[in-house]
Amino acid sequence: MNATAHPVSKLPDVGTTIFTVMSALAAEHKALNLSQGFPDFDGPDALLESVNAHMRNGSNQYPPMAGVATLRQAIATKVADLYGLDCDSETEITVTAGATEALFCAIAAVVHAGDEVIVLDPAYDSYDPVIRLQGAVPVHVPLTAPTYGIDWARIEAAISPRTRLLILNSPHNPTGMVMNESDIQALQALCRKYDLYLIGDEVYEHMVFDQAKHLSLCAYEELYARSFVISSFGKTYHVTGWKVGYCVAPPSLTTEFRRVHQYVTFTVNTPVQLGIADFLQQQPEHHRQLPAFYQAKRDLFCQLLAGSRFAIAPSQGTYFQLLGYADITSEVDSALATRWTREHGIASIPISVFYKNAADCEHRALRFCFAKDDATLRQAAEILCRL
Ligand code: PMP
Ligand code: GLN
Repeated sequence: MNATAHPVSKLPDVGTTIFTVMSALAAEHKALNLSQGFPDFDGPDALLESVNAHMRNGSNQYPPMAGVATLRQAIATKVADLYGLDCDSETEITVTAGATEALFCAIAAVVHAGDEVIVLDPAYDSYDPVIRLQGAVPVHVPLTAPTYGIDWARIEAAISPRTRLLILNSPHNPTGMVMNESDIQALQALCRKYDLYLIGDEVYEHMVFDQAKHLSLCAYEELYARSFVISSFGKTYHVTGWKVGYCVAPPSLTTEFRRVHQYVTFTVNTPVQLGIADFLQQQPEHHRQLPAFYQAKRDLFCQLLAGSRFAIAPSQGTYFQLLGYADITSEVDSALATRWTREHGIASIPISVFYKNAADCEHRALRFCFAKDDATLRQAAEILCRL
């Protein structure tokens, strides 16, 4: 037999992502798709026009490896404005092909073979495989259901001499949990005791509700000194398909980050970077209005479901809402998400897939994306209220 035809897989247990699986199932059954996280409305007109104009005006060749200078400067202005971080766009900001690429580069930059990396379950699905691709070991620590608070004592108990990195995601996908001041204090205490790098996966930074504030790792000097802070314009501007994100990190970490980035994608498409730079400079109120915009959607969705049999704790952040279904059925979440897509025409995401051991997922809940037009949310709620 030809050995090259059957490679020894580096990720033998990895299948197709749940997002691809559920969106395909939704399309097959013409179901309302509240599974994969993307808006069913478009990005702002001025942004689309600006990208178009740059493309028409011939800005179609390679931009600088780290990203277009005007975009990096606009990002620096934004993080100074929101989080009080005074950073140098030349040495601390890199534009990436979505947050996904930034996560890969940050992990690959600092994690060596044999290192351990702590991730909190339910964990966004890209972390674990990327850690393993470095020959490193993901150490999974569960959040505490059903509120999904961070158990800092459990994190500390999981730290070993090999622990190199802790990945934090706030606002948290899929639970909507948002880190608070006491989490930050616990994290600061931990970082004084142990020499860890941090990744702040902050792609939902502008979706935090009920007057709470997003507490970015950028905002705390001693945390930022060891952090890669990652965000995504796909979420902020309703253009998930554009795949443009960025990483803010101190110069020494950015140097290592770019050593990887330049050989993963080298750079990110020019007209979109230029268009986002214009839009950030001209309409900074867009991201300031985003929490209210998404809170109204969350509130509408939850109100519409008030008479349903679901258990609902309104999401603190992100554009996802967990709905507890224990009063409706005892089925496991992945089978249920599939069945409801087929039989009732509504697609969602099971949360057990974000655990290393699905059995650790005690909360019977499905994740629904409310980044949808109000009409879509009404249609979805009508179906869900019948279940
Ligand atoms: N991290 C989290 C927590 C996410 O939910 C997502 C995407 N949806 C990403 C990273 C990846 O973002 P992007 O689409 O910009 O690659
Ligand atoms: N992050 C999005 C979600 O959680 C999907 C991203 C993807 O499809 N890879 O639904």
